[in-house]
This record gives sequence, structure tokens and C-alpha cells, in this order.
Amino acid sequence: MGNKRFGMFKGFGRAMSFGKSSAKVYVKALTGKTFADVAGQDEAKEALAEIVDFLHCPEKYAEIGAKLPKGALLVGPPGTGKTLLAQAVAGEADVPFFSISGSEFVEMFVGVGAAKVRDLFRQAAEKAPCIVFIDEIDTIGKKREGQTGSSDEREQTLNQLLTEMDGFDGNKGVVILAATNRPDSLDPALLRPGRFDRRIPVELPDLSGREAILHVHAQKVKLDSDIDFNAIARATAGASGAELANIINEAALIAVRDGRSFVEQKDIEESVEVVIAGYQRRNAVISPKEKELIAYHEIGHALVAAVQADSAPIHKITIVPRTSGALGYTMQIDENEKHLLSKEEVLAKITVLTGGRSAEELVFGTCTTGAANDIEKATKLARAMVTRYGMSSSFDMTALETVNNRYLGGDASLICSAETAARVDEEVCCIIKSAHDKALKILSDNRDKLHELAFFLLERETITGEEFRAILDKKAAHAV
Ligand code: ADP
Ligand code: ZN
Ligand code: MG
Repeated sequence: MGNKRFGMFKGFGRAMSFGKSSAKVYVKALTGKTFADVAGQDEAKEALAEIVDFLHCPEKYAEIGAKLPKGALLVGPPGTGKTLLAQAVAGEADVPFFSISGSEFVEMFVGVGAAKVRDLFRQAAEKAPCIVFIDEIDTIGKKREGQTGSSDEREQTLNQLLTEMDGFDGNKGVVILAATNRPDSLDPALLRPGRFDRRIPVELPDLSGREAILHVHAQKVKLDSDIDFNAIARATAGASGAELANIINEAALIAVRDGRSFVEQKDIEESVEVVIAGYQRRNAVISPKEKELIAYHEIGHALVAAVQADSAPIHKITIVPRTSGALGYTMQIDENEKHLLSKEEVLAKITVLTGGRSAEELVFGTCTTGAANDIEKATKLARAMVTRYGMSSSFDMTALETVNNRYLGGDASLICSAETAARVDEEVCCIIKSAHDKALKILSDNRDKLHELAFFLLERETITGEEFRAILDKKAAHAV
């Protein structure tokens, strides 16, 4: 699945996004990090273990005449531990770590970048065996195309980098690691044999990976004895290592704010929501009328999800506003980690997304801007069904879109004629319309439950999956 960033959240209101600051240039002797600091990512660690061994005893490799790759490229989404892995390689091999970030070159004057690269490699050659780490290499290593003056500096820097990589003797024990989250934009010259010819994927962690990462970071804080890390890991599908580290730290801050000296399960649960949706805005002023609408909207999502067989179970519903701008949300958590989605499941997801708006229409006879985020997500899914997943009736298994940047949101561009594009739009519209109709039908068939659940949510502001199901399963006390 392309977009699985916290896929189970349906925020009411603005889209939720995560920021990430850019790294800085630094050169330091030893990192102090080891593979033990990196949880999960076993394949990446295995691939890097050979480099560690090479740095330990280059002679072993020289003797037999084997050449190790000069460079390895760590490729994956932001926050998955690429920088951490590079530091860990240096730590494991116990060699100096020279680090420079591509983004540092961006505002430099012409010539300075190239000189910096020259400098870096000169220093590294003196300190060999060592590791040279170029973070965010895409900022200098972009494909050289077109002739715009502004890219002069970048191009010179890149050329210098290529020259340096070709120039040094691989057996000296200088290993170059680089990291990027946009591998498809890299200049092919960089990927040629003798340069970064080894590519190490560093993907978002799976369920067990997330649990392991939570454990690693939890060692740094004082914990209650019975923390269920598996439950937290299940609630954070699509989260990166950096986000998980942040979740543990936030939980510790919440515990301090609460005047406790250790972290409890509920702190981590609250922290998951803080990291995803921002802090609670307890004092936000929301009129009773709006509150009612938001409650119906969220119950609309939840009820549609509960009635359909192919939807993930409801974990929590809340109408406490968050600093991200979300006014409420419905959290669904799958029993097991999902790697594939069936057509039925994708359709069910789209139907759930339309459930919020459907409830507004059904109960208030109007619609609000609150569904904007749902609409965006539903459209994205429906479009992918038609253009990428081969799940439409008219286009069979034809690819109509390619994904440009699969690690950074994955925006896609059409690769079909204008006529086909128009038909795609029609088909997308059709899918969403029938999902919307289905949601409307589910809700009007369950109108009593819709009201009962919405009142309950209005009263409590937050309800759990169990509370939700208890009301749902209760036989109607008085038939209408
Ligand atoms: P990237 O370079 O891929 O964007 P970083 O290596 O900078 O990501 O990761 C940022 C932080 O996130 C790390 O310092 C670490 O605290 C945490 N982190 C990320 N991935 C992992 C992991 N696999 N195990 C433990 N911590 C991780
Ligand atoms: Zn919604
Ligand atoms: Mg990084």
C-alpha cells in the first residue's frame, strides 16, 4: 500500500502532518552508537555488518583480492533510522565518523561546496579507516538536467564528489555512506559501479519492528511494570522510528506534568495521540451546535465501519479538539498487521471515510467543511484503485499513474491520454458516489443507534471501542 501513514485515523478538520527539521554539518570523532541502538531493520544491519567487518580488518579483503563497494546508499522514508544506522556502523567498527549534510550546500556560494567536499575527503584519507557520511545526498546529487544558473553550485559540488569517489583507493578503508529519501531523483552517475553501487533499503518498521523500537527508547525512561508495548505498536501502524521515539518522550513529559515519577500505559496512549493529532485543546470554545455535529460526524464514521465486515475494529472515538486543528477523530486498529488490502477492504475504507459527511446530511440536512480531509483521503484511495491497483472495471490491469516519490507522500503523475484521464475522473467519482450512497444507507438503516451513540459521545467526549460495541450490541429497548 502506498500511503499507510497512520491510515486508521479519520480526523475531522485539517489534515495532520509531521514536520522534520533539516540536519546540520558536523564532523565528530566517535559516535558512541552501536547496532543495539537500532531496533528492527535487521536486513539493513546485516548488509552493513560486512562493511563493519571490512573496517575492522581491511587486510582480510585485500589479501584475497576482493574489493568492497566504496559506497553504500541508505534509502528510505524520513525518520526510519538511516542517520542512526550510519552512526552505528562507525560505532561498531570503532572508527571516526565524518558527516556532512547535503542541505548545507544549498545556500553556499559557487565553489565553496566543492572545496568542502575536497576538504572532507582529505581529512578522511588522513584518518582512514573511517566513515564518510553524506546525509540527504539528493540535495546535491539530483539528476543534472536543464541548464539553469542556480544549479551551478550543486553541479560543481556533485562533480567534485564524483571525482573524489573515483580518486581514492578503496582498500585504504574509507567507506562512504549516504542517505536519501528520494532515490529516484539521484543522478545515475552516482549509482554507477565503483560509486554508490550498493543500495540498502531502510523501510518503515513493521509491527514487531515498532515494538522493538518502543522497547529501545523505553529503556531511557522510568516505566510502570506492566506496559503493553504490543498494543502501542498496533496502534501506530505507519509510524517511523523517529515518531516512536518521540511518542515515548512525550509520554514521559505527560507523566511529569501529572506529577508522577514513572510512565504509565495511559501516558503512552495519550502520547500516541499527541504525536499524531497534537495536544488536547481542552479550553477551545466550540458551540454546542458544532459539538453535536462533530459527534454525529464521528459516530457516522464509526457506525459505518462497525456494520461493514471488511473494516478494522473501532478503538476509540473522541470529540476533544486537538492543536492540529482536528476537532475529533475515530481510531480504528486492525487485529493484525496488514500488508495487503483487498478490493473489498479498500472500498470499505472509502465507505467509512464518507460516513462522517453522510451522518451530517442525514441528521442535519446539511454538510460542513469538516469533511475536507475525509474527502481528500477517499479520493486518493479511489484514484489509486483505478490508476494503480487495477481494481476498476474498465481499465483492467493497466497502469495509468506512476508514483514519483514513494518515500515522501508518494505523489503520482498520470501516464495516459487526456481522454483516458477524463474517464479516470468519471470512474473515481463513481466509486466515491456509490460508497457515499452505501454509507447513507447503513446510517439510515441504523438511525436509532446513530442517535444513541452520538448522544453518548456528546456526554462523554471520548468513548472506547468496548463502550461503542456495548451500545451497538444492546438490543433496542423499545422498538420504534
Ligand atoms: P533518518 O536519518 O532515516 O531520517 P534518523 O536516523 O535521523 O532517521 O532517526 C531519528 C531518530 O529516530 C533516531 O535518532 C532514533 O532516536 C529514532 N529511530 C529511528 N529509527 C530507529 C530504530 N530503528 N531504532 C531505534 N531508534 C530509531
Ligand atoms: Zn471525518
Ligand atoms: Mg537522517
